[in-house]
Amino acid sequence: MHSFTLWRMHKPRLSDVVGIINKKYPFALAEPWDNVGLQIGAPSEQINKIMVALDPLPAVLEEAIFLGCNLLVTHHPLIFSPLRQISSSTVTGSSVLKAIQGGLALVAMHTNYDIAFGGLNDLLAAKIRLNEVRPLKTVGHEELVKFVVFVPTAHHAAVRSALFPYAVQIGNYRDCSFSTTGQGTFLPLAGAQPAVGAVGSLEQVEELRLELLVHKKRLGKAIKALLSAHPYEEPAFDCYPLLNESLPIGLGRVGYLSEQVSLRGCAATIAERLGCGSVRMVGDPERIIRTIALCSGSGASLLADAVRVGADLLLTGDVKYHEARDAEAQGIALLDAGHFATEQLMVDAVRDFLSVELDRAGYQAEVHATKAECDPFTTVTTNGLCESKHALCCM
Ligand SMILES: [Zn+2]
Repeated sequence: MHSFTLWRMHKPRLSDVVGIINKKYPFALAEPWDNVGLQIGAPSEQINKIMVALDPLPAVLEEAIFLGCNLLVTHHPLIFSPLRQISSSTVTGSSVLKAIQGGLALVAMHTNYDIAFGGLNDLLAAKIRLNEVRPLKTVGHEELVKFVVFVPTAHHAAVRSALFPYAVQIGNYRDCSFSTTGQGTFLPLAGAQPAVGAVGSLEQVEELRLELLVHKKRLGKAIKALLSAHPYEEPAFDCYPLLNESLPIGLGRVGYLSEQVSLRGCAATIAERLGCGSVRMVGDPERIIRTIALCSGSGASLLADAVRVGADLLLTGDVKYHEARDAEAQGIALLDAGHFATEQLMVDAVRDFLSVELDRAGYQAEVHATKAECDPFTTVTTNGLCESKHALCCM
């Protein structure tokens, strides 16, 4: 137990945290124009406290440094366009300097987090309670492999645990595997150093056939994990390419409400669930809504895709006048809940994700959600009343 306690006290390195994010929300999924992943910091640096925010605002950087955090994970990247100088005379330069001087590393999880299964758009779909959710615009497919391993019974649990991190999540189910018992045979030849049996003698061993689904691009790592966990000198395993329809990866999501509602009612419910007080609506308030397409942030460019999949409504933020007119012309309803309200839900979700996954990996690091950012937009009514677009308050 003593060594277990010591192990639990271990602080992660920056590269460990980046690796944990990359495993669930691969940076390789990001759009080509994006800039995600490690932005500032030394990969070998030990991380004590992490802060999560939507934007790398100066106030957020100050809050993180004040609280003793040495890693800030944001959705929007601080370093986006190529920098020609890092000068305190620009907002970005000043923030980069502030982070470096404050010992604060920066990691961005932007469009990789929008696109990945279980990322921001799935969060948004869950928040408004959509069912049968799928990508709105497919940008690629995840090829799958059936990975079959033969393991002596006593080592089955250990090998399966070593492979679980590489098993495909099926819908809302992780750690999926199947095992059947049988007998393995082998005859060690001269030069072999068998874990079981002896050279020159045919061995029969009670084994389990363990099978899991693995993403093709992660197969190499799964094999490496198998080789280090399996007791045999030469583990037997098979990798079968599958003809199953591979998992679509894509932008935005589309799904169904369990009951149809009027556009007016739908808009009110979404405003309440996103905590943004009000939303801008395009379309007949009495129109019936059942199929909803959505894209967090600025997603009006997916209007044609929403029409193509037969959605009654596209929910997004940052809708411009001519995009609203376009929606009217194409006969689809639009809800603009704002960029902030459709994305700020990532803050608590990423904080919880990092807390759970760091703990699961045996690391100890505090993870905090920022309290220093709120929607920059405020609605002002004719009687001069100001209504913040979002319930979140600034410090
Ligand atoms: Zn955004």
